[in-house]
Amino acid sequence: MRLDQFIASSTELSRKEVKKAVGKGRVQVNGVTVRSANLQVDDDAVVALDGTKVHLPGHVYLMMNKPAGVISATTDSSQPTAIDLLPSDFGSKVHIAGRLDKDTTGLLLLTSDGQWSHQITSPRRDCPKTYQVELAEPLSSEAKTKLETGLLLKDEDKPTLPARVVTCSDTSIELTIAEGRYHQVKRMLAAVGNHVTGLHRLRIGEITLDPALIPGQYRELTEDEIRSIA
Ligand code: URA
Repeated sequence: MRLDQFIASSTELSRKEVKKAVGKGRVQVNGVTVRSANLQVDDDAVVALDGTKVHLPGHVYLMMNKPAGVISATTDSSQPTAIDLLPSDFGSKVHIAGRLDKDTTGLLLLTSDGQWSHQITSPRRDCPKTYQVELAEPLSSEAKTKLETGLLLKDEDKPTLPARVVTCSDTSIELTIAEGRYHQVKRMLAAVGNHVTGLHRLRIGEITLDPALIPGQYRELTEDEIRSIA
């Protein structure tokens, strides 16, 4: 696709305005400033206008309030999946950007844009995820410090990155982590001698679960929400 077409179909700029923007050096393709609006670009090229990635139209970006009891998989013959909760025209296109355990509830992002979901799931990107965590025991101040400093998970030799802990009550915290290791939150709390009794994801990057969504409901992301994952 031509660069001016790529940008004009994904933003409010007309082709003429795109041409001007390119001329002013406001457009990069795969990290390189380009000067020709006629340039042919691949559909998977990373095109940025004023430093913000331009998303090709046609992609789907959704948030869901995941209920307990459904798994974060595309298909499963024996168990209900989050994708089963979507109409089939969406469901056939999207994948899950950052899985949740079957018993975990809350913010699930689903998209057809693999580059976008990579920003969320890539270990190199350190995209923060915030969880509401209910605990079996009150969190001691030593345990809080260990979570904040980084700790070793069972059978691993690389400590977790420092986490942010906000105390909500004796047995309830908001925990923000920038990694996505297997069962990470549950294992972090187990590593400090506690036990997670309830887990709910509130936020991924700057995208917050819409409080209007009841469990099982979804909505499309706004342009700002899509753009916030860069
Ligand atoms: N950490 C967990 O332990 N489970 C989840 O579902 C998400 C993060």
